[in-house]
Amino acid sequence: METLIEKAGENDTAVYEKAGAIIKNGGLVAFPTETVYGLGGDAFNPDSSKKIYAAKGRPSDNPLIVHIAEMSALDKLSDNIPEILYDLADAFWPGPLTMIIKKKQAVPSETTGGLDTVAIRMPDHPVALQLIRAGGGYIAAPSANASGRPSPTLASHVEEDLNGRIDMIIDGGEVGIGIESTIVDLSGDVPMILRPGYVTRDMLERVIGTVETDPTLMKKTEGGRPKAPGMRYRHYAPKGDMQIFAGEMSSVAETINKRVRQSSRRCGILCSDESIRLYDDKGIIIRSLGSRTDLRSVALNIYRALREFDDEGIEEIYAESFDTEGFGQAVMNRMLKAAGYNIINTEETK
Ligand code: AMP
Ligand code: MG
Repeated sequence: METLIEKAGENDTAVYEKAGAIIKNGGLVAFPTETVYGLGGDAFNPDSSKKIYAAKGRPSDNPLIVHIAEMSALDKLSDNIPEILYDLADAFWPGPLTMIIKKKQAVPSETTGGLDTVAIRMPDHPVALQLIRAGGGYIAAPSANASGRPSPTLASHVEEDLNGRIDMIIDGGEVGIGIESTIVDLSGDVPMILRPGYVTRDMLERVIGTVETDPTLMKKTEGGRPKAPGMRYRHYAPKGDMQIFAGEMSSVAETINKRVRQSSRRCGILCSDESIRLYDDKGIIIRSLGSRTDLRSVALNIYRALREFDDEGIEEIYAESFDTEGFGQAVMNRMLKAAGYNIINTEETK
């Protein structure tokens, strides 16, 4: 299959007409959102959802998120909509928050990975919203990466992973946030965060009171199974072995420099603007993810940096750890997953 690649801004109506027709005919279109690029199909067409799994090489028990552009679209998805969904939508939609509620029978089980709940989001991106409207109002979309690779933050990342496997890629430039949406499950007694993202627990609690967090998110657990099926897979994985080092900046840099000197493999370092000068630059790749005072830049750069390391054939990745306060929890959750929860405290190993 030839993949059509088109650049588009909000007003490129011809592109949306073409893309909307592809979606309505059961085809797949990758598109930018404010979080990461998504791979979209008609959420009410079971064959479209099957095609999404096939194109990504994704296990079919891992449900997709249904993207909508209007609040009125909720009626076709659920007849069991809790009041707090409206409160959270008022505060955060359109935006990087996905909410899970009980689904209507008509929502295909192919789209929800066999679950009786559905995950819904209204993205805050003009291209995404135009595409959803042109495609009939309901676009099922996971991230537009091949399963197991870091999520795409640029159209070129989607092309690398899915060229020839999908009908179209809409190139709307770089995304704004760089990591996936916060997922909160509203189908149980107490709202629970299944995946941390830009919308933090504090932000949610200010609107709806107590919110719990899936306890398996920040550490490797023995018996505990993450509640979002997607969080069980080793997502976000670079090709190289990744280790994260925590502790005071100088001791982290000292430990990493020592390990890199002792290694005979191709090494790469992920650090911060504040620490980059502490590393020995001996032909290895050193990338700053941004300033420690600006976690948004770290979030925006992490997947891109991991893809660059893959392209450079990096075999060992040494990464600094970042603060887990606020948005930092989402950033560290993705880094820990990329590292298979391999984190070392340099103060303890000295
Ligand atoms: P992605 O945006 O590609 O990371 O994929 C969507 C994420 O949402 C995956 O981690 C899914 O497991 C999760 N998800 C979607 N629908 C549900 C649902 N009904 N219940 C729990 N998790 C869900
Ligand atoms: Mg994904």
